Amino acid sequence: MKALITSGPTHEPIDPVRFIGNRSSGKQGHAIAAAMRDAGFDVTLVTGPVHLPDPEGVTTIHVTTAKEMLNACLAALPTDIVVCAAAVGDWRVENAQDKKIKKDGTGLLTLTLTENPDILHTLSTHLNQRPKLVIGFAAETQNVVEYATAKRLKKKCDWILANEVSDTKGFDAEQNEVTLITDVGTERWARQGKPHIAERLVRKIKLHFDMP
Ligand code: C5P
Repeated sequence: MKALITSGPTHEPIDPVRFIGNRSSGKQGHAIAAAMRDAGFDVTLVTGPVHLPDPEGVTTIHVTTAKEMLNACLAALPTDIVVCAAAVGDWRVENAQDKKIKKDGTGLLTLTLTENPDILHTLSTHLNQRPKLVIGFAAETQNVVEYATAKRLKKKCDWILANEVSDTKGFDAEQNEVTLITDVGTERWARQGKPHIAERLVRKIKLHFDMP
């Protein structure tokens, strides 16, 4: 069985030396890729810029921007499972410059941002190559389960792992506390290390496919 995992942040260039990014470390996505590999899946990992080694035994594709991540994911189809764990930038700079931007004395710089493609939604609604199981994440700072339940329907994915983001949980942290939301309900998992979350998710995936 083939699995595609996205991980890490995206960097959206402002000019050759500056970008808009976020605090995703890639720890959760990379841990899922490694756990899927350990369970015998044929894993492709599409990752934004992270300070983590490529997991052994996993086909790892490095990208920078959301558009590159989408293209790499589409090129990796067909796949049985996709887990979108990347923190994809919602916007990119429309007027990114190919030379370093200089201060112009006005004290202002105006950047126009334009929305990035939604990779999770694109894969969930793929006409002829929709993966059998599409899993997304929802990082929220409040009303986690309520927002994530709505997100599952909006993004048309099968499962959502909802997590509350704070200084010690979620983004760039060692631990995560998630609620799994599926069509049959919600399941709250105790706060634990990201590799443990990954193993638990893989057990769920194997159960879903009746794998031993
Ligand atoms: O809308 P939001 O960013 O909160 O959604 C989070 C989920 O959607 C994550 O699974 C993330 O990987 C995915 N996503 C995506 N492409 C985007 C934005 C989010 O795949 N452009």
